[in-house]
Amino acid sequence: MGGSKMDNKKHFDAIIIGAGSLGTPTAYYLAEAGLKVLVLESVPSVGQGSNKRAIGGIRATHSDPAKIRMCLRSIEIFSTFKDRFGDDIEWDECGYSFVAYSEREEKILKDLLLIQKPYGLQNDWVEKSDLLKIIPDLNPINLLGGTFSPKDGSASPLLANHAFYTHAVKLGAQFHFSEPVVSMEIDHDLITSVTTTKDSYSADVVINAAGADAMQIGRMAGLELPVKPDSHEAAITEPVARFLGPMVVDIRPTEGSSNYYFYQHITGQVIFCITPKPNAWGNDVTETSGFLPMVARRMIEIMPRLRNIRVRRTWRGLYPMTPDGFPIIGKAPQLSNFVLGVGLCGQGFMLGPAGGELLTRIVLDRTTVEDAETLSYLSPLRQFAGEEKLK
Ligand SMILES: Cc1cc2nc3c(=O)[nH]c(=O)nc-3n(C[C@H](O)[C@H](O)[C@H](O)COP(=O)(O)OP(=O)(O)OC[C@H]3O[C@@H](n4cnc5c(N)ncnc54)[C@H](O)[C@@H]3O)c2cc1C
Repeated sequence: MGGSKMDNKKHFDAIIIGAGSLGTPTAYYLAEAGLKVLVLESVPSVGQGSNKRAIGGIRATHSDPAKIRMCLRSIEIFSTFKDRFGDDIEWDECGYSFVAYSEREEKILKDLLLIQKPYGLQNDWVEKSDLLKIIPDLNPINLLGGTFSPKDGSASPLLANHAFYTHAVKLGAQFHFSEPVVSMEIDHDLITSVTTTKDSYSADVVINAAGADAMQIGRMAGLELPVKPDSHEAAITEPVARFLGPMVVDIRPTEGSSNYYFYQHITGQVIFCITPKPNAWGNDVTETSGFLPMVARRMIEIMPRLRNIRVRRTWRGLYPMTPDGFPIIGKAPQLSNFVLGVGLCGQGFMLGPAGGELLTRIVLDRTTVEDAETLSYLSPLRQFAGEEKLK
């Protein structure tokens, strides 16, 4: 990959657009590989886009080889972060439990185990009586059982992103904040310059990691990327003594929502989210009055004890959604120095570290046989016809 050279100070081996869940770890791994890296970010600091809106869930319990493999790797990175770097990113190996209150969910979850197991995932079906030992406060009425994956967990999206940022900077990566990218100059198949509100730069490779704004960045390079912002709401309660271990996920669709999930943070607060049905397309991140009554009813039904906890705050953020629910990671079509790390949907925080390593191998042309399989699922050229089973 090669771009035209500006003066030396403004030419970089790699420019990353976006210092979010994916862009910031990518800056770290590229700098670690010895590249001269520039990150351009619209807002004044790292992780302020969708990253800080994430509730911190990290699971490898997906329904496809690409996300399973990537998240297994991310879990290795998150769970050893403190030992390796010294930073406390609030990693908690709390596990995930997808619960089943009807035969429909039991069948979906058991079928998924057949896909997950060959990838070395620790996830098992747990009968009702054993599940109630793991999550004693689950409503036992109609409960059939559920899956439990003990190695999944949670961490702080802001602490993790900030830690990647400080280590990237130590390795020489440059971050330019409050400097949105506004245009790109293209010559044949090459991005020759990236222009912000303040200056222009060039690079051997330009990486689009602009989250919910990835489509606009794509258009600057003449590409129509199928990434649309989809608004999701979340909330946090007051802290209470620890009573809940794993993240609980209920995939029963009901009117207004297709699923919801919650866990108790290590500092005692219960944090929760719902997937609205139909999707709430657009950039609006103003909280709604409909979210809390809808999700609270569902959560209290499944865990009556939650009725006593007071909610402190709700917020709304954007999933950068693709039509099939899978990210788009790989070299862009038509352009020889443009790489895409976009469309991370509802899993960008957990995919970020492994995604950063993967993008680094793409840039260095060092992808492995396993990467080739992973990238085939995430290809920018795929048909986008499938549908992810565990969004
Ligand atoms: C309520 C909610 C809960 C969630 N929970 C989880 C969870 O538990 N686990 C999980 O893994 N994921 C979760 N997610 C999803 C996760 O937040 C996203 O998938 C992830 O943050 C996307 O990462 P990203 O790097 O693509 O985008 P971002 O983190 O948004 O980063 C993109 C960056 O690009 C910058 N940018 C945009 N345009 C430009 C421009 N023109 N020039 C320069 N910079 C630009 C933005 O300012 C932003 O900082 C949740 C999301 C929401 C909304």
